[in-house]
Amino acid sequence: MPMPGLHEVVWEDREYLGWRDPSAPQRGYLVAWHGAEPVGIVLRAAGTRLQAGAAICSLCNTPQPGNQVTMFSAALAGEKGKRGDSVGTYICADLSCSLLIRIAPPQYEMQPSPDEVVARRAEVLRSRVAAFTERVREAA
Ligand SMILES: [Zn+2]
Repeated sequence: MPMPGLHEVVWEDREYLGWRDPSAPQRGYLVAWHGAEPVGIVLRAAGTRLQAGAAICSLCNTPQPGNQVTMFSAALAGEKGKRGDSVGTYICADLSCSLLIRIAPPQYEMQPSPDEVVARRAEVLRSRVAAFTERVREAA
């Protein structure tokens, strides 16, 4: 799998690194850290996007127009993956959850500060990415 320079990435501002393969539009990649170890997962986008209405990304939990969320599947690790088993989940089509959650909400008087909202979203995203990558890997 082609990897960008992981050390050039500003990890402080992202819970995972995700990108679509420019040479294979159905393919995407997700890299997240598990402790000191980067874990990469190859994702395959379903042919069709959700069309109507709103959808919610299962990683960053951001509601958005349905055509901006795509069903991705990842082959399970080990023997199960070899047999073709995979897990599927809805993720932002451009795999930019980390950017999305940092779009600060407008500040209303009764709300926590936008910084707190972003920090809480980041925590949710980080734990969901970890759960997803664990699901793919632990099936081995
Ligand atoms: Zn997302």
